[in-house]
Amino acid sequence: MTTETQKQLDSMMEIKNISVIGSGTMGNGIAHTFAQYGFLVSLVDISREALDRALDTIGRNLDRQVSKGTLTPDQKTQTLARISTFTENGPGVAHADLVVEAATENEELKLAIFGELDRLAPADAILASNTSSISITKIAGATSRPDKVIGMHFMNPVPVMKLVEVIRGYGTSDETTERIMELSRTLEKSPVEVNDYPGFVANRILMPMINEAIYTLYEGVAGVEEIDTVMRLGMAHPMGPLQLADFIGLDVCLAILRVLHQGFGNPKYAPCPLLVNMVLAGKKGAKSGEGFYTYTAGSKALVVAAKFQK
Ligand code: NAD
Repeated sequence: MTTETQKQLDSMMEIKNISVIGSGTMGNGIAHTFAQYGFLVSLVDISREALDRALDTIGRNLDRQVSKGTLTPDQKTQTLARISTFTENGPGVAHADLVVEAATENEELKLAIFGELDRLAPADAILASNTSSISITKIAGATSRPDKVIGMHFMNPVPVMKLVEVIRGYGTSDETTERIMELSRTLEKSPVEVNDYPGFVANRILMPMINEAIYTLYEGVAGVEEIDTVMRLGMAHPMGPLQLADFIGLDVCLAILRVLHQGFGNPKYAPCPLLVNMVLAGKKGAKSGEGFYTYTAGSKALVVAAKFQK
């Protein structure tokens, strides 16, 4: 940790307790990162199994950091000791200075969660959402503190990726924005401030590319590996778009495309029927064991290509 980071940590002392709502792909990474930087984390999920899985994942990811030499075994133990788990928001947010919601990408669900957080969290707590695409202004409307509601959009995997997209809703105050920008820097991330329109910046650009890759597969232009190879080797992307879609979660990609489609009313964002079918069939990508590839114990393989064609 640099001296500059330590100084920022000192100036952030008023934010100590972080509640993370949802312990799936993103929630576990967000909890891990805050705990690693010394914050006390309350991780909340309606599913006890999801919480157990999250603690397991965090433990394994910390082990990887220890084996790489970026963390000491003591730091791993301390990080884990800073995380408590809850299956209800009441005790989970009672002492929160900041809540970061990372539950399923569903507008109705998020509006209900924010209404509840507004009632249960301390009056001066900031309520942030890690949503990929849903309107922060609309989410803020479910609370009595729109000035303290903001988007804090981490990237997957959170402990590794440097970007935090900080989304200002219509009523988000300068103070809230500045505190979240500063807090992101404290986590040694690079925050970028953007305005509140469907998909913000990251997913407005990324999702049409992923959708186009799925259409390219669906129309039989090329197979999964070929499409991913073109984008990896031709565009220097670290991962092809189909593998990335599996990694993000196909259900999450579909939900984001629907927000873009509805929000802009433009048919160019309509999700590819193959994506819709795969989600209906429960093929959600890496987290479900199968998407465009299959995943078993950390290794990936190709799914039979014929399944994907129109
Ligand atoms: P996920 O499906 O992996 O996990 C969602 C978790 O939320 C589940 O464990 C579920 O049990 C829990 N949950 C559902 N309802 C809840 C409630 N009422 N209270 C508490 N927990 C509840 O989803 P994810 O990929 O982690 O996505 C979470 C959020 O992060 C979404 O808004 C998504 O758009 C956003 N996001 C995802 C990615 C990604 O790469 N997957 C990247 C950036 C942002």
